Amino acid sequence: MSGARGVFDYPVTSDAKRITLLIPADRRSTVDNLGWQSVYHLLNSDGRLSVIPLFYENGVLVDIDGDTANPERIVLTSISYEINAITFLSILNRFLGGCTVYAGGYAFASNPYFLSGVIAGSSASEFDMLTAGERTAFIDAVVSGERPKLFDGSTIVSASSSGASPAHSVIISPHSAFGNAFVIEVNRGCPFACRFCEIPSVRTLRYTPLAEIKKIVTQIPSDIRRVALVGSALASHPEFTDMISFLLGAGYEVSFASLRADMLDGNAIRLIASTGTATLTLAPETGSERLKKVLHKSISREKLIAAVTAALDHGMKRFKCYYMLGVPGEEDADVTAIADEMNDIMTAAKKDAPKRGWMPIVNVSVNPYIIKRTNRKPDDVFIDKSTWTKRTRMLSKALAAIGGINATFHDYHEARLEGMLSFAPAEAAIFILHEKLYEASYKRIADRLAKEFPIPSYT
Ligand code: SF4
Repeated sequence: MSGARGVFDYPVTSDAKRITLLIPADRRSTVDNLGWQSVYHLLNSDGRLSVIPLFYENGVLVDIDGDTANPERIVLTSISYEINAITFLSILNRFLGGCTVYAGGYAFASNPYFLSGVIAGSSASEFDMLTAGERTAFIDAVVSGERPKLFDGSTIVSASSSGASPAHSVIISPHSAFGNAFVIEVNRGCPFACRFCEIPSVRTLRYTPLAEIKKIVTQIPSDIRRVALVGSALASHPEFTDMISFLLGAGYEVSFASLRADMLDGNAIRLIASTGTATLTLAPETGSERLKKVLHKSISREKLIAAVTAALDHGMKRFKCYYMLGVPGEEDADVTAIADEMNDIMTAAKKDAPKRGWMPIVNVSVNPYIIKRTNRKPDDVFIDKSTWTKRTRMLSKALAAIGGINATFHDYHEARLEGMLSFAPAEAAIFILHEKLYEASYKRIADRLAKEFPIPSYT
């Protein structure tokens, strides 16, 4: 199969008005995102609009099969990550002259102020969270050639989530991270409250019951044999293991978004391993008990080791561990604690290696702690560059001494800019456009913004 295809037949008429749904990122990283797919579904379901998704790859706009395409006059954009807003500004300047643009998506909902000065329909709501009446009003206006006034309100996320969006793919594409998989959203929101995470504050917790998942599965095209389960708290779903058993029993390969280790018991790991999943992803974030409490994410070392041991016993050969540097109150000793924790994990991993005949591949990914609009505490400060450099060197050296670990460190300037964009005012977007900064490096953009628009925690 070479191209993408839809799951539903929409009642779109031949004279339907064409509009663009712009995702300012490449297809591989975004095609499976159910956020924009929901908007696509809700607009096409009306029948009077024909929605054409466009992506941004190698400096041009492309359709879902990768062919170069131009935008329509009405453009909705879905911005999931703050950094994509910079890409959007570049696209706005190069391709969207004369278009009426509306915005939504996770990052936009988190800070709608930044793009409000450059997008006509400012203060946009998340389209799939609007009431059916609000969505119809939008479509009515587009069809009659008016500028829709739908997004003029101050509400960012309507309280009246209608549940109208399907909790699954409406487009399946081979050009995606999961690769021709049918994606099912197992949950939204999260029952936990990790200090650095925006999800609990911007998403209402919702689980898709297994009974509903069984109905969803009947819509999977017969030649699609892979199901990807996504959600921010997959393993906390009360029917998580039953769900995997059901999908395996129905003959599907199953893939997962990342899983929280402390929610996985031996049985869950056995089932995950039996899907053919080779990588166990762990996100302890920090190594010391003190900072685990600061982060409100206390995955104990014992639980991590138990998860790793169970995964090895069931043949999983890869581990990915996520840590952060720059956690509020962090000292050099906390960096050493990360290496200690990894040493304990590696000791457990090496224990039965001779008997097994193989060693797991272990990757450690280290990111700066990013302070966002929704989680900032008054005394939070983004880690300065010299401390970041010093601590990344310390950690890199300590992990190298353990052996068998591939460590990667996130780009400091990208993380800093991501955090800054979470707070940036409307004037900052206008400034970036005016100065053509969207073509500059993340460092240069962040430095200029810090000078012109001092942002708490980042100056
Ligand atoms: S468990 Fe994950 S999704 Fe939930 S609050 Fe923590 S980081 Fe966010």
